[in-house]
Amino acid sequence: MLQSRMGGNTLGVHASVFVAGWNDAEVDRALQATKRAGFHFIEIPLLNPGNVDAVSTRKKLEEYGLSVTCSLGLGFASDISSPDQEIVKRGESLLMEALDVASALDSSYLGGVLYSAMGKYVGPAWPGAEAQVADVLRRLAARAGERGITIGLEPVNRYESNLVNSARQALALIRLTEATNIVVHLDVYHMNIEEGDLEQPVLECGQRLGYVHVGESHRGYLGTGTIDFPQFFRALARAGYEGPIAFESFSSAVVSRDFSSALAIWRDLWDDGEDLARAAREFIDQQLHAAGRAVNLSISDSDS
Ligand code: MN
Repeated sequence: MLQSRMGGNTLGVHASVFVAGWNDAEVDRALQATKRAGFHFIEIPLLNPGNVDAVSTRKKLEEYGLSVTCSLGLGFASDISSPDQEIVKRGESLLMEALDVASALDSSYLGGVLYSAMGKYVGPAWPGAEAQVADVLRRLAARAGERGITIGLEPVNRYESNLVNSARQALALIRLTEATNIVVHLDVYHMNIEEGDLEQPVLECGQRLGYVHVGESHRGYLGTGTIDFPQFFRALARAGYEGPIAFESFSSAVVSRDFSSALAIWRDLWDDGEDLARAAREFIDQQLHAAGRAVNLSISDSDS
């Protein structure tokens, strides 16, 4: 039976919309802005897990009445898909460290580009990469399971990884791990580049879809690019997706040049993160409602 999805999803925003780092002042600024824009949770990047004071952040989250998710992308020095075992070891340690911080923050989710470096590779992955990555992720998922944390694998476009670019590849990697607490994390910005459309991958993931990023084709204001958001949100509604939806956008007006360069942000499409976030919150709401209505309509059509 198809489900209406009104009201089920929690909505969040990536911290990089507001701040570059995570010192006390930045924590306050980010949480305040998240709350003001009307989001339920903030997604905290754990690229350097040691930089996050989990105890004080958790206290602040409670003060603001916000929940939290965590994400990261590995670097080439911590790439668990590398043939160099020293690098793989470093990557596994980083993932375990991020998991500890996520757990201390009381996050039930750690996702992102956890399976390779997030960056442009100069060649395809080596033949043993997938099995090696599955072994590391199996150990990560086992430890995450003990803490009630779900691990998410985010397929990203070909310029940001050579291992998992599509939902189907993410599903195959998850099968290889045999873990039950690893989900697919779909990002419509990447889907727009790699998938045939924005509906089929959602339906193919089904119950394995556990987290969603929304971003525009140029990573700017939602609704000002070429992404077919109505198609994507209708797919979520048809799939009965009731998990988190987080808005993601980057500008060197906020984040460090290193970070924005890793994501190929060469021209800034915005400089006011709070305005951007408010607009995103409103846009997502409209899309959820429109998709809910459209899917309910098609249900009653097929009933009659
Ligand atoms: Mn994303």
